[in-house]
Amino acid sequence: MVSMGHEMAAGMAAPTGEAARPGFAVGAPGGSVREFPAVWAVLEQVADPEIPVLGIVDLGIVRHVRQGGDGVLHVGLTPTYSGCPATEAIRASVRSALDTAGFADAVIEEVLSPPWSSDWLSARGRQRLLQFGIAPPTHTVGSVRGLWRAAATVACPRCGSGNTERISEFGSTPCKAHHRCRACGEPFDAFKCI
Ligand SMILES: [Zn+2]
Repeated sequence: MVSMGHEMAAGMAAPTGEAARPGFAVGAPGGSVREFPAVWAVLEQVADPEIPVLGIVDLGIVRHVRQGGDGVLHVGLTPTYSGCPATEAIRASVRSALDTAGFADAVIEEVLSPPWSSDWLSARGRQRLLQFGIAPPTHTVGSVRGLWRAAATVACPRCGSGNTERISEFGSTPCKAHHRCRACGEPFDAFKCI
């Protein structure tokens, strides 16, 4: 089963512990005070290429902005999951935004541990997903079986009915699954809870 490694990794991750670390300031609950607000302001403007209403900060993939021992700014990004085609596009967008804003010296580094979890979507991010017609993840990562059970009963973003079915594992992008509402008949994408 291809996804097993991912599930186990997600189960072992403890993003709440990470949230207490200085410099860790993202959509995760309890995010600490942000250092380098000017850099965060730049990052806030970078949209997810697949879901343009969602910024990468709201997506929860910006792990840190901090000054390294070398005196250089480091921006840590966590891919939503390996193989997500948006990862390279996001990195290029961040590079471009930093360069334009005068942070050409900043280093972008990939942070693979702990792995990104849909728990890290900010409240604003979830709201924007809903407005965009994508059902946000409704549960926290903890139990793999719970994940899939919950994913099977995603609420319809149009009418709110829980009477929905997953009709395809893959929606308009690999990060989303395709669902249909049995109550109103509306097909919709749901953000995969990974
Ligand atoms: Zn509906």
